Amino acid sequence: MSSGLITTAYIAAGVLFILALGGLSNQETARRGNLYGILGMAIALAATILGQEVTGYALIVFTMGIGGAIGVMVSRKVQMTQMPELVAILHSFVGMAAVLVGIAGYLDPNTHSLTGVEKSIHEVEVYLGVFIGAVTFTGSVVAFGKLRGTIGSRPLLLPFRHFINLVAIIVTIGIGTLFVGAEGTGFPLFGLVIMTLIAFGVGWHMVMAIGGADMPVVISMLNSYSGWAAAATGFMLGNDLLIIAGALVGSSGAILSYIMCKAMNRSLVNVILGGFGTSGGKVVEGGEQGEAIPTNLEETAALLKGAKNVVIVPGYGMAVAQAQHPVFELTQLLRKAGVNVRFAIHPVAGRMPGHMNVLLAEARVPYNIVLEMDEINEDLQDTDAVLVIGANDIVNPSALEDPNSPIAGMPVLEVWKAGTVVVLKRSMATGYAGVENPLFFKENTRMLFGDAKESITGLLAAV
Ligand code: NDP
Repeated sequence: MSSGLITTAYIAAGVLFILALGGLSNQETARRGNLYGILGMAIALAATILGQEVTGYALIVFTMGIGGAIGVMVSRKVQMTQMPELVAILHSFVGMAAVLVGIAGYLDPNTHSLTGVEKSIHEVEVYLGVFIGAVTFTGSVVAFGKLRGTIGSRPLLLPFRHFINLVAIIVTIGIGTLFVGAEGTGFPLFGLVIMTLIAFGVGWHMVMAIGGADMPVVISMLNSYSGWAAAATGFMLGNDLLIIAGALVGSSGAILSYIMCKAMNRSLVNVILGGFGTSGGKVVEGGEQGEAIPTNLEETAALLKGAKNVVIVPGYGMAVAQAQHPVFELTQLLRKAGVNVRFAIHPVAGRMPGHMNVLLAEARVPYNIVLEMDEINEDLQDTDAVLVIGANDIVNPSALEDPNSPIAGMPVLEVWKAGTVVVLKRSMATGYAGVENPLFFKENTRMLFGDAKESITGLLAAV
């Protein structure tokens, strides 16, 4: 393939990536956005493989076959609730690829003829790419472990942890100044390997210190890092498309992290410094808070039938129970009976950005009744009944009422302002942030205990 044709293909792929991001910003166009992304990636791969520098086709077909087969198998098997784990582990692959390509790029005999400024620029690209890649690799592996539950979600707070990070960064910069411009490959390669080990440690320590409640931000931050690692690799390899794609991933991940921090009322620096959030799942005792009032299917069905306005707040538990289809059937039934049913979506509901939107779209819930937190929060006071389905942290009033709460300041759906709130969950256990929820003990709250899918199916029959 001529270099002109490759450049044209790269531009087309770059445009398709931008269209893909544009499409993904809205549920109605998300499917189209994904198709643009797939097409862009297919063009990018074909143009790269058919490039003049590529020769080992047999090896490429063989490795792509194995990688593709694993990819198809994993994505068919993965549950919607495990999606963030999959995303985290895929980021770790990007990180490791940046490390390996960086070291290979440094050892490449073709680059040894570079001199002066060109040599220095190449070395800076290698050094930065390997550093960001190594931080992304271990950070993503730890995030994967925390989301999967193999590593506890409680933050690891080593003594002098900020000092340790600072020393690691200073040593990294120190080695970098010796690495860039050094002659020969012996000593600089040793420095590169030492820096890689330090960066592995920085990534591990950084994410270990971040508590479970901040995991969504960490995932999108690592997404951003993996983009910058790819962009640095693109500079090193002189591949314009990798630079464009890396910059798109890097900046969109950074913007998403910022939006999520705003939704949780946290600053990005505060999240990165860690120490926030405790382990989830402990059972809350009534005690001082009063007693939670249990309810049953018949009472809840009567409440829903008698209501004019109903708001459904889905959370992580709806995803676990896979209750989205019966939830939609219930919605249709109530809407046919003249009840105005709407959904309220918190930006960090579930375990990944857009988690609830994806589930509701899968169940074919019309987009116009699915509203974001900012769009619906003010209407909650005029709502007769709210069904909280497997949500906990995102409807916790202590975020607004208790300045000492670990989630103080995080905007939440103010469901307690509605006439009656029915919370569907299996027990009194806390949610992901491990924070007690005073909502369960409010006078207008009723607890409908049980698996969300079973409860909703029961409600369908009772309504
Ligand atoms: P929570 O984790 O706060 O609460 C979920 C609740 O669902 C639990 O209290 C649990 O209670 C209940 N539940 C679990 N399984 C079932 C089931 N089968 N049937 C009925 N209920 C069930 O979820 P939220 O969506 O309210 O909040 C999301 C939390 O996750 C936030 O803290 C957020 O920061 C964090 N997070 C968000 C990510 C994102 O990107 N959206 C990523 C990672 C973390 P019980 O056990 O009693 O049934």
